[in-house]
Amino acid sequence: MSNPSNPSHRDPSDTQRLAERFAQLPFPASLKAVVDEFQSAVFTSSFSLEDQVILHAIASQHLPVRVATLDTGRLFEETYQLQARSSSLYQIPIESYFPNAEAAQALLAKQGPNGFYDSVEQRLACCHVRKVEPLARALRGADVWITGIRREQSPERQYLPIVEWDATHGLHKFHPLLTMTWDEARAYVQQHAVPVSPLHARGFLSIGCAPCTRAVQPGEPERAGRWWWENSEKKECGLHLKKRQSDTTPETFDKPSRTTSQEASKETAEKQPAIDKGSDV
Ligand code: SF4
Repeated sequence: MSNPSNPSHRDPSDTQRLAERFAQLPFPASLKAVVDEFQSAVFTSSFSLEDQVILHAIASQHLPVRVATLDTGRLFEETYQLQARSSSLYQIPIESYFPNAEAAQALLAKQGPNGFYDSVEQRLACCHVRKVEPLARALRGADVWITGIRREQSPERQYLPIVEWDATHGLHKFHPLLTMTWDEARAYVQQHAVPVSPLHARGFLSIGCAPCTRAVQPGEPERAGRWWWENSEKKECGLHLKKRQSDTTPETFDKPSRTTSQEASKETAEKQPAIDKGSDV
């Protein structure tokens, strides 16, 4: 249980000390130690492979962590099914945070339902309404935010510390799986019979909104399937950008073909063998 006598760590003065301390601990002991250290922990899940590992660790250690998800309204049906199954299996309530109705209405009036394909600015506007603003509500009241970020996922994530200060939301972020590899995460879910998205077996390594995610080819970077029409290595939706990184707009941008994202994903998946046919544990 959280120790109410612990300070809430609501400033960055001891971030480095915390990072050094928790980097020493193996997962999942590190997760328990962080939850014990802070007063109010929230874990945001997109029901990715990594997030399912963390959800299992929270459930199996009976940790008092709020679990939240950002329901953008554009998720895969498989994601909703996994959310329901996981909540039931682990007997954990999962809070869904939706876009503000008025903001979503204004967004659609301005750029239509799929305006995110037309420019980076419109894509970021959609991510802001559907993810970034709801995230701020999901994190409200928390002093530590647990994420499924791994260094292997992208070049930008390679040098992250295990604990960092998030000036945007005024809390610490903890990445318990930071050094875990994809194969280690796969081994964990197999060992503990953790349910995972069937999309992984169809080549989706990183899973986001349906129209903005495609399967990846063997050898492609994990996040190559996210916003695949944007020619940039810096593909983020704004959830994990630091304030000083607000200038991350990709330099170049290609419009997608007229093929729908689902068709593109299906086509890519059909071209390649399944990455791991046993992954729908
Ligand atoms: S990932 Fe795509 S659909 Fe989802 S919020 Fe961002 S732009 Fe909108």
